[in-house]
Amino acid sequence: MDYDTIAAISTPIGEGAISIVRLSGPKAVMIADSLFHGSRSLSEAASHTIHYGKIVDPETQQTVEEVMVSVMRKPKTFTREDVVEINCHGGLTSVSRVLELVLNQDVRLAEPGEFTKRAFLNGRIDLSQAEAVMDLIRAKTDQAMNVAMSQMEGKLSALVRELRQQLLDILAAVEVNIDYPEYDDAEVMTSQTLYDKALGVRRHLDRVLSTARQGKILREGLSTVIVGRPNVGKSSLLNQLVHESKAIVTDVPGTTRDVIEEYVNIRGVPLKLVDTAGIRDTDDRVEKIGVSRSKQLLKSAELVLLLINGHEPLTDEDRALFRLIGDTPTVVLINKADLSLKISIDEVKRLSGSHPVLQTSMIDEKGLDELEKTVASFIFSDQASANSETYVSNTRHIALLKQARSALDDAINAADQGMPVDMAQIDIKRAWELLGEIIGDTVSDRLINELFSKFCLGK
Ligand code: GDP
Ligand code: ZN
Repeated sequence: MDYDTIAAISTPIGEGAISIVRLSGPKAVMIADSLFHGSRSLSEAASHTIHYGKIVDPETQQTVEEVMVSVMRKPKTFTREDVVEINCHGGLTSVSRVLELVLNQDVRLAEPGEFTKRAFLNGRIDLSQAEAVMDLIRAKTDQAMNVAMSQMEGKLSALVRELRQQLLDILAAVEVNIDYPEYDDAEVMTSQTLYDKALGVRRHLDRVLSTARQGKILREGLSTVIVGRPNVGKSSLLNQLVHESKAIVTDVPGTTRDVIEEYVNIRGVPLKLVDTAGIRDTDDRVEKIGVSRSKQLLKSAELVLLLINGHEPLTDEDRALFRLIGDTPTVVLINKADLSLKISIDEVKRLSGSHPVLQTSMIDEKGLDELEKTVASFIFSDQASANSETYVSNTRHIALLKQARSALDDAINAADQGMPVDMAQIDIKRAWELLGEIIGDTVSDRLINELFSKFCLGK
């Protein structure tokens, strides 16, 4: 299909030494050429070549920018259309000037995600791959990046296609049995064989879904709360974690003013530290926050780091915190282990139940390695490393996989009760369709527009 020509700045605004204006569409080369002065015209340039020259304002004949221009002709491009990338050296002003000149021609400013959307619409990538592009842009750790990468390379798509093929095989066999009951070569599809086959697919689906928890955590971070009474070392721990990790420390704008989220990367597990504002602030504020605030924070926590001061006997406030954490995955840290131990380790262990207890010191950095190891073990089982598998990480994909599983369960139950095989047909067809939505085989235009509008501009 032929679309109009679009353009946008496709590098992060204000960062990096080079900014790129990207054009895609039937007129991309012609339009770039009309602004470009170099040793030869871009229209004559071979595909996948790069050219040095100047961008000149056609009205004033003024040189706006010194550039390197890549010419990539369809179909071997990201969008499968003609693509031109104008690499500008100057800062934001000059790249904006170049974009402005481009947009004065017969070109439209690209919507967020529109380049990727074209790649999808032109069949270059499927929907789950397009979504991976978005994840890549937002990846918070190398592992999250790996997950997105393998999804972009189509590993999830391949899995989904395989599952769909298995469902199709069942459907085909049911069909043959209904239409040609006396056809000898056809495999006879009794409710027993249907049951067995559907169960096989279900097991496969379960394996894929079992990676969802890890995948989601890698993608979104594990909501982590640091609790402990005043002066036990919460701020010190936070500083250690932030310092140790090559972390992205972000304030999330638009959230409640006093809730700040920071991400730290613990052996590939992104921890989303919640309400670090309370911890960073002066300790009299922390005192005011007290147990009731902790209670509220703990409700949404997926991981708790509970600190107690090993240099003092346990207090009732410590004991109250132990009761609050309940079943939430927790690491108990007996801090200030560099000082003499005045706490009853036995009582701490008793209160901790099955939660691991570590001794730490923020002064001589004792126990931090073990803390990291313990945190990572919450997410990855012993041997599995963060990059060993294809993880399902996207909430939309997980939801669809679960719906497909429940449709399949309906078919399995029907077969189990000895219902005629064509009864199960509808459910299996439904499972097949739901899986198709993951890769974009069976999705509506509205959904597609919604998904792509979440992308960054210029991607
Ligand atoms: P918070 O109130 O829980 O945030 O505790 P802070 O991190 O502000 O620490 C309170 C005081 O304890 C500070 O003077 C820290 O230097 C000190 N502190 C924190 N961790 C340790 C530790 O492991 N050993 C020792 N000796 N002092 C520590
Ligand atoms: Zn503090």
